[in-house]
Amino acid sequence: MAELKLKNIKKIYPNGFEAVKDFSMDIDDKEFIVLVGPSGCGKSTSLRMIAGLEEISGGQLYIGEKLVNEVTPKNRDIAMVFQNYALYPHMTVYDNMAFGLKLRKRSKAEIKEKVNNAAKILGIEDLLNRKPKQLSGGQKQRVALGRAIVREPKVFLMDEPLSNLDAKLRVQMRAEIIKLHHKLKTTFIYVTHDQTEAMTMGTRIVVMKDGVVQQIDDPQTIYRHPANKFVGSFIGSPQMNFIDSKIIEANGKLYYEIKNKKIEIEEDRAKILRDKLYIDKIVTLGLRPDAIEVRDKNDSLEAVVDVTEMLGSEMYLYLDFDGNNVTVKVDPSYKVEIGKKINFGFKAKKVHLFDSETEMSIL
Ligand code: ATP
Repeated sequence: MAELKLKNIKKIYPNGFEAVKDFSMDIDDKEFIVLVGPSGCGKSTSLRMIAGLEEISGGQLYIGEKLVNEVTPKNRDIAMVFQNYALYPHMTVYDNMAFGLKLRKRSKAEIKEKVNNAAKILGIEDLLNRKPKQLSGGQKQRVALGRAIVREPKVFLMDEPLSNLDAKLRVQMRAEIIKLHHKLKTTFIYVTHDQTEAMTMGTRIVVMKDGVVQQIDDPQTIYRHPANKFVGSFIGSPQMNFIDSKIIEANGKLYYEIKNKKIEIEEDRAKILRDKLYIDKIVTLGLRPDAIEVRDKNDSLEAVVDVTEMLGSEMYLYLDFDGNNVTVKVDPSYKVEIGKKINFGFKAKKVHLFDSETEMSIL
């Protein structure tokens, strides 16, 4: 059990590339932190710096009270689970799990108890005599987790541990890792590029892009109040839609002006736009698929149905709105024809607003 403190952590690789820029965060004991972002954003580098596998170029890292910048990985009281499991092929499951404890010269009885206990937690008691090549992907992943559990580390670090599994197993293992976190009551730091994993697993999510932390918040806050356009687009599936609009004033009211249509702005947003001097400026509207509705009103916008996607409990329409892609969530019973014109509007209170230049949230 441990809290962590990252203070202005930075990574500059020997070739001069700055992979992580000024990462600061306090992590409480027992949190489940997910680092998420597109490929190359610096999430693995950040995790490897915490593990001690990568030198920290600037800033301070504390695990518990201790400054660990110069502490070797094996003395950091952490355990890391990798994407490729990294099991020893010639050893049985039991020996793979026992290996770290043997190196630490623990007694046979203690090793046996810890391995059996971890095997029980993970439901792999029947596999202890097998070799890794006799295991499925999900079973290998459990063994890799088991090997980390027996060490009873203060912090669990996981780098894309589920990405080699098929979709169904991934969902199952996701739930198991959440349960494991509840059982072990330790701090987890988990790296993924998958926003669904981040949303479902994290107590807090760190969204990264180009080595820069974009937002750190709990999943609900990240989803409901994205700090900028990037976070809005990265979190949530299908993606948030973006439409540029001029803010205009007429008869004391504010309107979005989009393709010669005037759409009245609801009070809360109008006040903010007024206060922040956005009248006559362009802003970017961020609209999640459930913020858009197919409707026929004076202020509706016209688009063409490109594709429909039926998922059983819901259906998505992919619209071509003057060359822009707009995704709309509709009831699965909705009847629609590809290539047909359709009118849509948006639910006023669900509109996100971003500055069209800085891309930061206006709300
Ligand atoms: P992925 O999901 O693809 O693993 P990531 O977010 O984990 O991506 P990192 O592996 O942390 O990204 O890499 C961050 C950036 O640092 C990338 O642009 C990568 O090319 C670069 N990088 C990684 N290792 C080195 C290295 N040894 N030398 C130079 N640049 C590196």
